[in-house]
Amino acid sequence: MLHVEGLTKSYKTGESVLPILKGVSLTVEKGEFVAIMGPSGSGKSTFMNMLGCLDRPDSGTYTLDGIEVSKLTDRQLAQVRNQKIGFVFQSFNLLARSTALHNVELPMMYAGVGRAERRKRALEALGRVGLAERVHHKPTQLSGGQRQRVAIARALVNRPSILLADEPTGNLDSRSGTEIMAMFQELHSQGVTIILVTHEPDIARHAERIVTFKDGVIIRDERVENRLTAVPSDEVITT
Ligand code: ADP
Ligand code: MG
Repeated sequence: MLHVEGLTKSYKTGESVLPILKGVSLTVEKGEFVAIMGPSGSGKSTFMNMLGCLDRPDSGTYTLDGIEVSKLTDRQLAQVRNQKIGFVFQSFNLLARSTALHNVELPMMYAGVGRAERRKRALEALGRVGLAERVHHKPTQLSGGQRQRVAIARALVNRPSILLADEPTGNLDSRSGTEIMAMFQELHSQGVTIILVTHEPDIARHAERIVTFKDGVIIRDERVENRLTAVPSDEVITT
């Protein structure tokens, strides 16, 4: 469902050109749950930004759901980003002045979904992440774990082909982190394809496959033998 081949990316700083991705190839099948690990600066976020169509590689190909992303215009790329990809960030990236409900409705506004349908689907998505009682709260009125759950609801609301998460537990305490991993595992069991970046081995072991980056290349790609199962707290209802 997702296939990248020979992806490269460099950043220019002043006179010098710094190669960050040096030919990355990866195939992820529908329904897989993959964790990406690797030291800080190894190119994980740069790679995720390519997968999320937030940025373009210098060379290489990227196919998502049969679409050759590398050949799209900027306008088409924005459409793929909005309709096929859900992205969750370490820092949540929610609109601070808007309610949870409005934050989750936003991607559907861009996708042209009508008002009533938007409302219905946003409420459904917030229910799915256990926040039915918090839909009119603003981010500042929510805990870190709850904010990240709003972000996950927002990422899922356009029914994307793939859910991408870059260090989604990086700003959370370990209890909230576990809660978020319980949520990802639940979504995975419902068939959602997930690629998640983390530098914590215990977080990565919730996935079924671990891909390791170093200096802009993949140095390891392995199945997880003893997968960890995150147990959701009482507050989170994941049905
Ligand atoms: P990771 O997520 O694995 O920590 P990143 O992909 O964020 O690594 O960054 C890899 C390298 O690319 C880092 O050395 C970083 O400083 C550099 N880098 C990232 N984004 C930019 C940018 N927009 N301009 C210049 N350098 C960048
Ligand atoms: Mg990063």
